[in-house]
Amino acid sequence: MSQALGYAAASPTSPLTSFSFERRAPGQLDVAIEILHCGVCHSDLHTARSEWGAAIYPVVPGHEIVGRVTAVGDLVSKFKVGDTVGVGCMVDSCQHCKPCADDLEQYCENGFTGTYNSPEQGTGANTYGGYSNQMVVRESFVLKISHDAGDLAAVAPLLCAGITTYSPLRHWKVGPEHKVGIVGLGGLGHMGVKIAAAMGAHVVLFTTSAGKREDALRLGAKEVVVSKNPDEMQAHINSFDFILNTVAAPHDLDAFLTLLKLDGTMTLVGAPASPHPSPGVFNLILKRRSLAGSLIGGIRETQEMLDFCAAHGIVSDIEVIRMDEINTAYERMLKSDVKYRFVVDMSSLKTVA
Ligand code: NAP
Ligand code: ZN
Repeated sequence: MSQALGYAAASPTSPLTSFSFERRAPGQLDVAIEILHCGVCHSDLHTARSEWGAAIYPVVPGHEIVGRVTAVGDLVSKFKVGDTVGVGCMVDSCQHCKPCADDLEQYCENGFTGTYNSPEQGTGANTYGGYSNQMVVRESFVLKISHDAGDLAAVAPLLCAGITTYSPLRHWKVGPEHKVGIVGLGGLGHMGVKIAAAMGAHVVLFTTSAGKREDALRLGAKEVVVSKNPDEMQAHINSFDFILNTVAAPHDLDAFLTLLKLDGTMTLVGAPASPHPSPGVFNLILKRRSLAGSLIGGIRETQEMLDFCAAHGIVSDIEVIRMDEINTAYERMLKSDVKYRFVVDMSSLKTVA
């Protein structure tokens, strides 16, 4: 066991504060990591506030983790002390069901182990995430980082926002011949714009914030639509091959479904605390449109995404914060006031403890 320091929510309504806890001693297949940077995902907020069902308190959020290896178990073969590594939304899974065998651990039939607020395999102990100074993770859930050392803070958001957008874009085979919509320019959305553009698609960004127009174009969108403006929306009717919807709040899906062409698909990755109003069935029937969902991505695909982003020079646009600024960051996230991902500089933990 070793003593770790983190930031935790003690209840759905309490602000996050400093919290000491124990990490397990590294087992033979484990990697011990000093955490350097941790991105702030909207899922952290949903969980800390129990918006997705009862969370187990204290909640130490954080699943966009970049750090340095400090120790490895005897049987670890992929990593050595000093390596720069990443950890995303999962730290374990059953490893024997069909999805696990197919490198789709996120769909593990026995439930993958989330990086936080999840029962550890074997012990059932609650997992604590990346808003902390160190962690211990099974080797097979640790990712190699090949980006330049100067980019590491901006790489952290790839571990969730990056893979959650990359995976559906790959699954629905987005490429140069496609017109692709990304809905919402937040943490996920801005990665979706960059990655879809790198895949060669004609990217259209939908936003409720007219002030984000220039940024969206700079990030790689060819067109920007302010979704509150019906005339701007109407100009794109029946024209999209694929739309990736990252919005974190309930909204009218029909407004986007009607923009899909014959056989087009809209995939939801945004996971609001309460349901969207039901879409009109005729909007699906009349053009054989699909409405789908997608969950993060498997470990093999996460490595593929990291290597793709390194090869294309893609990182996240970030605002670095101290750990004690996390509660203000959550409030700003709720106001869509993030450009475009907060990342906690974990060295600040030592000074605020
Ligand atoms: P975020 O940074 O807060 O971005 C969400 C964006 O949605 C906002 O920036 C805003 O963009 C738009 N938006 C917010 N409220 C809206 C509203 N009422 N109506 C329309 N648009 C609104 O959040 P995030 O970290 O990207 O996460 C987005 C969602 O994905 C969250 O629900 C999160 O839990 C979920 N998520 C899912 C997965 C998965 O595996 N499926 C993985 C990670 C996260 P504009 O200002 O451009 O409108
Ligand atoms: Zn996330």
